[in-house]
Parts: sequence; structure tokens; C-alpha cells
Amino acid sequence: MNEKRIENVIIVGGACAGYTAAVYTARASLEPLLIEGFQWGGQLQNTTEVENYPGFPDGIMGPELMQSFRAQAERFGTRFITDDATRIELSDGGIHRVWVGDTEHLAKAVILSMGAEPKRLGIPGEIELGGRGVSTCGVCDGAFFKGEKVVVIGGGDSAMEDSIFISKFASELTIVHRRDEFRASKIMLERAKGTPNISLMTPYVPEEFVAGDDGKLAKVRLRHAETGEIEELDVGGAFVAIGHTPRSELVRDQVATDEQGYVLTRDGSTRTNLAGVFAVGDLVDHTYRQAVTAAGTGTMGALDAEWYLRDTPPSPEAHWAGRAGEAQEGEPAKAETGEPAAAKLTTGS
Ligand code: NAP
Repeated sequence: MNEKRIENVIIVGGACAGYTAAVYTARASLEPLLIEGFQWGGQLQNTTEVENYPGFPDGIMGPELMQSFRAQAERFGTRFITDDATRIELSDGGIHRVWVGDTEHLAKAVILSMGAEPKRLGIPGEIELGGRGVSTCGVCDGAFFKGEKVVVIGGGDSAMEDSIFISKFASELTIVHRRDEFRASKIMLERAKGTPNISLMTPYVPEEFVAGDDGKLAKVRLRHAETGEIEELDVGGAFVAIGHTPRSELVRDQVATDEQGYVLTRDGSTRTNLAGVFAVGDLVDHTYRQAVTAAGTGTMGALDAEWYLRDTPPSPEAHWAGRAGEAQEGEPAKAETGEPAAAKLTTGS
């Protein structure tokens, strides 16, 4: 009988976290299957120079860095599917199912690394001028705008934090927000207001990012939200900081997430509320969202998955034994896990 192969581990999402998880699981001889997505490489694929990834003192281009991550995962035997996962059925300690179109893949462990997407304004010039003045990451790109006028769009903590960071480089920074009230915490707003080269402009809605003759951002066109009056600001940089959307749509009704859809993990690990399901990278991270932090959690996910597979069925000494089934604050309680079904099945082609 031709039995369907059961993978040790499927990693869903090919960017910093997913490729790092693949390097580690591949080196641990787990023969990971990485469903990397049609547009693999994540946010760095749309970034120009990366200056803050350790180990590259002269910087590296985002796509080149992702290509290197991928090549390293490949070197140790990772198998790739360069397409999007279309459906995921997670189990609790049993076999997980991941579809790419009509093809079903089975695994004992799954590492979710689908990332998060910066929200976009959806206005002309926003995508076209990405990497040429328009950015969604202040920490990544702020230092490129030394001595320039910069605008930051948004009224939340991200906009304040980005502004405070970028103001160290920019000559003048204007925070543009669509309302007079700010969603940001009082302390962050006050800190931004107290920074000498930061000013606020409300209530204004961005209408267009306009390129100069050199093809780089030159102006942002703004509309007063009440009067409709149009204003143009000459700027060298524009940062869109209006929040992120975690890419958890395929698993949101199965695994515990917070209100915004970020997957919840436990005890400083990558374990979710489902045994054998691990989550890493921006999919779980509200706060840091850096290539190097995502890569770090990719490592954690690989080790957690490796220990899970090694210690299944659980012994009292297992890293995760006795903790896999605990419900934690803010998460739904789940059914008794029992012996993971994965332990009863044989891996093979
Ligand atoms: P957020 O709190 O959701 O704020 C998004 C901001 O963008 C809001 O002011 C919103 O305006 C504006 N916005 C959304 N869509 C827009 C559009 N189409 N056009 C113009 N403006 C738009 O997102 P966030 O700032 O990324 O923060 C997310 C979470 O992370 C929050 O819980 C935050 O506290 C936390 N965080 C904390 C820190 C920190 O403590 N250091 C730093 C960053 C983030 P409206 O207000 O009008 O909706």
C-alpha cells in the first residue's frame, strides 16, 4: 500500500523566521518541508539596504539577505514548496494537515511563520516609491534620512516610536494624523511632542506620494479631513506607521490568538496552546519586528519542535511535558491532550 508521507515538521512561511527554523530543523536531520509562499522572502524582499543585521558591517540588500537565508536552509536539505499554503487543519498533539491547492501535506509538528504585513494607505506612490523614500519601518530605514525633512503617518504608538527614532536623523519631522485625537499612549505622545524637531499636523489624510525628477520621493500631498483643503509638504522620506496585520487568517479559529490575531505563545517559548504547533517571527510579535529577532524566534521554534518530536510520547523529563495542555490567561481551555497521535504513526514515504 502506498502510504502518505508524514513529515516530521512543516514550516509555513518563508522569511527570516521560517528560513532560520528550516536551517535548524534541517541540521537536526528532521528533513523539514518549507511552504515558503509564492512571494517568499517577506518584508525584506521589499527593502533596499539592511544595515542592522549583525554580521554585515557594510550592510546587505534585503533580497540578497533573504536569498542567503534560503540557500543556507537548502544546503542542509530543506525541501521547498514555492507556493502559498491555502488551508491548514491543526490538531492538538496529532497529525496536522496543510494544503497547497489540492495537495495535502501531513506533519507531526508545524512551525507557523507567516509573518505580519504592514498596513498600507492604498494611495498613489506608496508602493511605487517603496525603497525610494517611502518606508514602513522607521527602525530599519530612519538612518537613511540624515538632515532631510520627513513625514510619519499615523497616530498610534508605532508612529510615535518611529518618529522619536527618526527625529535623531531627520532635520524636521512632521507627524500627520487623520484625527485630532491620538490613539498613542500619553507618554509616547508627550515624548514626541517634546522633541524639538517634531511637529504634529492634524487632521490630515495623505492623498499621494509624489516623485521628483530623480524618481525619488519629493512631496506628500495631504487633504484636510474637514475642510478638504490640499497641502503639499516637501519631504525626502515618508514613513507609513499605521499598524500591522498578522498573517494568521488560515489558523485564527484553531489556535489561540489575541484580539488582533497575533498567535499566542507560552512561557517565553514558541509553543502554542496546541501540542506540536509552534509559532515564530512577526506572527507572534507586536513589538520588535526585526529581521534578527524573527530569526531568533525561528531558532527557538526549531528547537521546540525538535524537543517535541524527540520527547513524544512525553516523559516526565520532556521539555514540554505537562505544559502542552495548560490553558493560560486569555486563551481558551483545550481538551485533554493525551498521548500525541504523532507518536503512533510511522514516518515514511
Ligand atoms: P494602532 O495602535 O492600531 O494605531 C494605528 C494608527 O494609524 C491609528 O492612529 C490610526 O488612526 C492610524 N491609521 C490606521 N489606518 C489608517 C489609514 N488608512 N490612514 C491614516 N491613518 C490610519 O497601531 P500601532 O501604532 O502599530 O500599535 C499597535 C500596538 O502595538 C498597540 O497596542 C501599541 O500600543 C503597541 N505598540 C507599543 C509600542 C511601545 O509601547 N513602545 C510601540 C509600538 C506599538 P485612528 O486612530 O484614527 O484609527
